[in-house]
Amino acid sequence: MTGAFPVISTFNVDKVQLGNFDFDQMIESLRDLFARDRQVASQPESTRCGLCYLHFPITELHYRDDGFYICPSCTRSLGDHRLSMLRKQQRFP
Ligand SMILES: [Zn+2]
Repeated sequence: MTGAFPVISTFNVDKVQLGNFDFDQMIESLRDLFARDRQVASQPESTRCGLCYLHFPITELHYRDDGFYICPSCTRSLGDHRLSMLRKQQRFP
């Protein structure tokens, strides 16, 4: 025991600022996401969710009275909140 303060230099500043956030992993998962999105978008019966802007088959989307399509995961996040959209999405027949 020297009575000295703990050695500060072992302290990893980058880690502290970023927490456990793994940037490379985030980029990787975004790539996957966009790849899937493009794939769904290339299908005729698909359109964007009005909130997250990802593509979904029409059958998975719900057209809200507010005037936009919403995907299942946004439905969960939004709950019963009403949104007023500046631009209404075209509703497919
Ligand atoms: Zn969505």
